[in-house]
Amino acid sequence: MGTVEAFQDRLARIEERIAAACARAGRARGEVKLMAVSKVHPASALAEAVAAGVTLFGENRVQEYQQKAAELNAMGVEGAEVHLIGHLQSNKTAKAAELFDGVDTVDSLRVAERLNDAAAQRGKPLPVLLEMKLSDEAAKTGLDPAGDELRLLLERLPEMPHLAMRGLMTVAPLEGDPECARRCFQKLRDLRDELARSHARLDFSELSMGMSGDFEAAIDEGSTIVRIGTALFGARAKQP
Ligand SMILES: *Cc1c(COP(=O)(O)O)cnc(C)c1O
Repeated sequence: MGTVEAFQDRLARIEERIAAACARAGRARGEVKLMAVSKVHPASALAEAVAAGVTLFGENRVQEYQQKAAELNAMGVEGAEVHLIGHLQSNKTAKAAELFDGVDTVDSLRVAERLNDAAAQRGKPLPVLLEMKLSDEAAKTGLDPAGDELRLLLERLPEMPHLAMRGLMTVAPLEGDPECARRCFQKLRDLRDELARSHARLDFSELSMGMSGDFEAAIDEGSTIVRIGTALFGARAKQP
């Protein structure tokens, strides 16, 4: 991790690039949220980012963030909205509903039902996004856009009072050229438009797509949340 100045410089450069991408796409800067992806980095990195004005964070592991949340609490850091952006196992839904301000990777009916039950304890609905799998990359999680699981989930979501459906999320193929990522973003936007028409009772306003290497194309294609890790916090040590 670098100095405070280094973080602020990186943040300022990302802010400039987001603003420029919005201008090119004819979109207002306010339509796109910056999510700082702090996975693997220590709680002190989140504290530094909060001090620099970042308010939205993405973490990819329940246990890892549980530890950091305790440290942030002990440091007196407040004002961070933290979402889960990694795969959620159904045996960790209770912890996730307690710990996170949103779960952006719902990818099965079972996980949605368990989160809905767990979120009853929160006192306010838990915002969720559905993670979509739009490429054939073997290791990727997410819902098949043509599958029965998605169809059933969309039927049941209006009856889950403790979840607040907000939209869709995807991870573009990490290998491949920028045009490949762009096609993936177009697919997510088209799918969103189609589902919003066929499921008028559900809110599809958020499109979480775009990372350090491809966020400008994602903004061009309608992203409302870009998830940026490396370009803000520097390279990550490999996860075990
Ligand atoms: C790690 C991660 C990111 C951030 O990736 P960078 O390339 O470091 O910006 C975004 N989204 C998800 C789901 C991630 O796991």
